[in-house]
Amino acid sequence: MTFEFTKEQEMLLKMLKEFSANEVAPLADELDKTGRFPQETVEKMAKLGLMGLNVPKEYGGAGLSDVCKVMAISEIAKACASTAEMFAVHLLVNYIITKFGNEEQKKKYLGMACSGYVGAFALTEPNAGSDAGSLQTTAVADGDYYVLNGSKCFISNLGKEEGAYAVVIALTDRVKKNHGGMTAFLVDRNTPGFVVGKLEEKMGIHGASVSELILQDCRVHKSTILGKVGDGFKVAMGGLDSGRIGIAAQACGEAEAALNAAVEYAKQRVQFGKPIADKQGLQFYLADMATRVEAAYLLTYKAAELLDNKKYAGKNASMAKYYASETANWVAAKALQIHGGYGYMKDYAIERIYRDARILTIYEGTSEVQKTVISRALLK
Ligand SMILES: Cc1cc2nc3c(=O)[nH]c(=O)nc-3n(C[C@H](O)[C@H](O)[C@H](O)COP(=O)(O)OP(=O)(O)OC[C@H]3O[C@@H](n4cnc5c(N)ncnc54)[C@H](O)[C@@H]3O)c2cc1C
Repeated sequence: MTFEFTKEQEMLLKMLKEFSANEVAPLADELDKTGRFPQETVEKMAKLGLMGLNVPKEYGGAGLSDVCKVMAISEIAKACASTAEMFAVHLLVNYIITKFGNEEQKKKYLGMACSGYVGAFALTEPNAGSDAGSLQTTAVADGDYYVLNGSKCFISNLGKEEGAYAVVIALTDRVKKNHGGMTAFLVDRNTPGFVVGKLEEKMGIHGASVSELILQDCRVHKSTILGKVGDGFKVAMGGLDSGRIGIAAQACGEAEAALNAAVEYAKQRVQFGKPIADKQGLQFYLADMATRVEAAYLLTYKAAELLDNKKYAGKNASMAKYYASETANWVAAKALQIHGGYGYMKDYAIERIYRDARILTIYEGTSEVQKTVISRALLK
């Protein structure tokens, strides 16, 4: 086990830090205020090879590891949570297509992914959240085609224009359900019947597009199936380890941003004739915050390394996602407390960071679901 980055990773980190500081951070406040999607950042990220970071080289990507993915998502998240959420979901979709796609699908969609066409993953439905096995969207066979009907909700990377394709999980056998009755389809946005519905208004990550997806007699060729008929639940769950590590990385970055903001503020704010950083009560807060941030990173890197080494990563991915997302919320709350009344005002970044962090314990499996996965692994 090593706790050091390689030379190549150090170079990647340097590039990421410069890009985040120069191109991502300056937009964070504006994206939060306007709720617009950072299309120009996506294009710049594509030029730098970031949108294809985890795409194998033979399909035009950088072919980098999950450890590098953690570095990339966390650095972007330090600057802007909305951009990091777009990126984390996009890399999840890359991972799923790489793992389950056939040659033709990989050539087409991974190529698009590298050039900056953003991908989406559509599993959740109004009555199927944590209980993904109870989804109701159907895919009925009709010759060489399948006809999709149903509605998905809270789908990231689908907005007014953004989101070029989506992995859609639907029922091909209502009786078997998640025991071989679900199938994953890779659907182009411009397919008739693929309707992007209401764009959600959210508490935070305002620059990340999250929408309803309505499938109305959406007719897709059988060549759009990812894996085999009946593999849908396997595809959805097969992406989770990498997806959870991605959200854990986002949480690490946001937690670190909150910690940095608190350190800076504590050194500048003077009360009782001295910077508030002189108060041991606040120093202890900072020490706890820094310790938890470090622990969150270590858990996340360990899970990523397990995945890179093709070892079982499910329990560790859940531990990382659970701990890092709870840590981001805890650290952001403490950082806001250190800012006092100013932290409650929109003039300071911590107000946005605090709201942005709130989603982390909910999507890609809630904290309660992560604890179920961890305890199941312990008790089996
Ligand atoms: C901003 C945002 C973006 C999202 N992006 C996507 C996306 O791109 N694609 C996608 O498919 N989905 C996406 N989701 C959906 C997200 O994954 C779900 O919201 C999440 O899985 C929880 O489902 P739910 O909201 O239906 O809550 P529910 O499942 O109804 O849960 C409600 C509460 O009950 C608890 N609970 C449920 N079951 C159990 C249990 N067995 N034991 C203990 N407690 C339990 C939960 O932890 C939670 O506290 C997104 C959601 C949001 C808000």
